[in-house]
Amino acid sequence: MRKQTADFNLVRNINKSIVLNKIATNEPISRADIARITKLNPATVANIVKELMKDDLVREIGKGESNGGKCPILLALNPQSFCQVGVHIVDRIAGGVVDLKGNTLSYIEYQFNKEEKLEIDLVIKSIYEAIEESGISLEKVKGIGIGVTGLINSSSGIVEFAPNIGWENVHLKNILEEEFNIPVYIDNDVKATAIGELWFGVAQGKRNFIVFDIGSGIGSALVIEGKIYRGANGRAGEIGHTFLRYNPIRCKCGNYGCLETFVNDKIIIEKIKSEIRTGGKSLILDLIDNIENITLETIFDAVRKNDTLTNKIIQNMGEDLGLVIANTINTLDPELIILNGYLTTIAGDLLIPIIQQSIRKHIFGKTVKIPEIIVGKLCYLPKCIGPAALVLQKEFSYLKKEIP
Ligand SMILES: [Zn+2]
Repeated sequence: MRKQTADFNLVRNINKSIVLNKIATNEPISRADIARITKLNPATVANIVKELMKDDLVREIGKGESNGGKCPILLALNPQSFCQVGVHIVDRIAGGVVDLKGNTLSYIEYQFNKEEKLEIDLVIKSIYEAIEESGISLEKVKGIGIGVTGLINSSSGIVEFAPNIGWENVHLKNILEEEFNIPVYIDNDVKATAIGELWFGVAQGKRNFIVFDIGSGIGSALVIEGKIYRGANGRAGEIGHTFLRYNPIRCKCGNYGCLETFVNDKIIIEKIKSEIRTGGKSLILDLIDNIENITLETIFDAVRKNDTLTNKIIQNMGEDLGLVIANTINTLDPELIILNGYLTTIAGDLLIPIIQQSIRKHIFGKTVKIPEIIVGKLCYLPKCIGPAALVLQKEFSYLKKEIP
């Protein structure tokens, strides 16, 4: 008997997930259309919709056109029935409350001293503040998602090694679950961005893609058959530490010649400064009063004015990136490459053609189709959205069937 009840509940839950998925992906939709698409009995659909409305997950939003009979009532997902907190911890704490459709209901940022260990209390404070500012009660928050720079064990929720914030083996999931008493999901920040792109960004409906995050280093997230590929030890994706060619600058990993010692936010600025100091001529000197004031923006302003020196440096950087991306394409055959990070936000249009050219030069099979390369949508959205999607992926996976 017990087995039968369990099976009955399982089928009921599966049907509930199917109905909710159809509403989320086809809204506004009538009960009759749900029954037609899902091939479920109309009475079953009506009962499930009743339950979903009771749970406040679904609401009636008006009437559709008549097919001869009564006008059907249209249903839609209530995006604020449940919300999630997302916190992005990289060069600052960026937290916010995000609803089921990826709308940000609140957003706060905290700077911290990068020379000192980050206080966990500041993370807790940012979560309380984000919830308070959103006007949503804690009961409506389904979970907390945290995207942290560094090596993260996503199943245990332990931040194993995050040198940028001075953390080693921090049991962040346990600490936050004890504080807030709701599920907490922790992942590396770039992996969280990949999940965010899958839910709300340019990777919706994609199964195989790679996110390259270019900042002070280069991180990546590999999505294979709709799932983040983690590898045997959870360390897959360290593309920034791919050997490119010898470089006297030592990488933070201890090796020499890693990609990220050739391509990162700071190195571009340093290279241009050093070329100018040794007599290099550049239009950039017309744009600033002091060489120390060179920024990524002024560099790309100069590139857009056809400045030879800055153009050469950006060209070399794009070629190096393209070479490593070509190797990755040869290995994984993705359908899409997403570039993430501030640099690509301000100069993606300049970098992408150089990267494409370099890929074409280095890829196996000169006539094969190169995957599309685009700047991620999350680059332009509040940083809390990727981490918040970690909660959606675990708690609301049935809203998007392609996500396991
Ligand atoms: Zn390295």
